[in-house]
Amino acid sequence: MRIAVLSRNADLYSTKRLVEASELRGHEVEVIDHLKCTIVMEKNRPSIIYKGRNLDDFDAVIPRIGASVTFYGSAVVRQFEMMKVFTAVESQALIRSRDKLRSLQILSRAGLGLPKTVFTNYSRDTDDILNAVGGAPVIIKLLEGTQGLGVVLAENQKAAASVIEAFHGLKARVIVQEFVKEAGGADIRAFVVNGKVVGAMKRQAKEGEFRSNLHRGGSSSIIKLKRSENAAAILAAKKLGLSVAGVDMLQSKRGPLILEVNSSPGLEGIEKATEIDIAGKIIEFLEANTKKPTKRIQKDKINA
Ligand code: ADP
Ligand code: MG
Repeated sequence: MRIAVLSRNADLYSTKRLVEASELRGHEVEVIDHLKCTIVMEKNRPSIIYKGRNLDDFDAVIPRIGASVTFYGSAVVRQFEMMKVFTAVESQALIRSRDKLRSLQILSRAGLGLPKTVFTNYSRDTDDILNAVGGAPVIIKLLEGTQGLGVVLAENQKAAASVIEAFHGLKARVIVQEFVKEAGGADIRAFVVNGKVVGAMKRQAKEGEFRSNLHRGGSSSIIKLKRSENAAAILAAKKLGLSVAGVDMLQSKRGPLILEVNSSPGLEGIEKATEIDIAGKIIEFLEANTKKPTKRIQKDKINA
């Protein structure tokens, strides 16, 4: 099969590992910078031009789209979908997962545990907002932040009110969330591929920090998930329509609380912590979805 890894940087750990895992399994693979793709639309012939060439010979793409280029990146993924190329992450699911508010609305309706969260339209009633989540300390998050940037812990009511006002003054949209102190600066990342958790790690924030992101100096270790955590991760990925996802959860007395679901989860932390070939699992998922159906599958279908 011919695989395109949509990535801006061929030297990134995740990109290199996906290339390596593809080659190991006998596939042809190429790293394509999605920002250098030109999308061409004409009657019945959607196409993509890349460095003067028509990208018409791929069987599958693996999107690794950074948060800052979601709009263009997802348009490129959608174009591949129009060209009937299989994608590890669908464009709609990619866009959905990048909006923390939309994701939390979907997860809450699915009956999944999450920290109590409020969202308002630049309201000046900060007391109402804070009371709705049980008062300070609270977490205030930019709707489109990532890697822990844009996540603030406000320890008391006054600090929380000023931070909310400051963000609102900048016309930055934020959610306000109960601070789950008992998580102790740790969270769990469950890596889901094709409806199964293929690896999980616990991330611990560095001393004096509440954000466990590895980019913020957190450290990671392998963890065996409880049954409830495993089930929550699988359901969250499913509800957001993601076949490849990094589901982040806090451990609490009420069970797992989902923080977010990442659609381009990094491979370095999870592969190093678990020593599992996660890149290989992603390639196997592509193989299962691009192969011509075998006779046995066809027969099963007829029986059904
Ligand atoms: P980002 O997209 O920037 O990673 P997250 O929502 O995942 O934003 O938050 C970053 C980190 O901050 C989490 O991994 C977790 O360690 C900590 N955190 C986030 N929300 C809460 C919360 N409500 N209570 C306690 N810790 C939190
Ligand atoms: Mg996160």
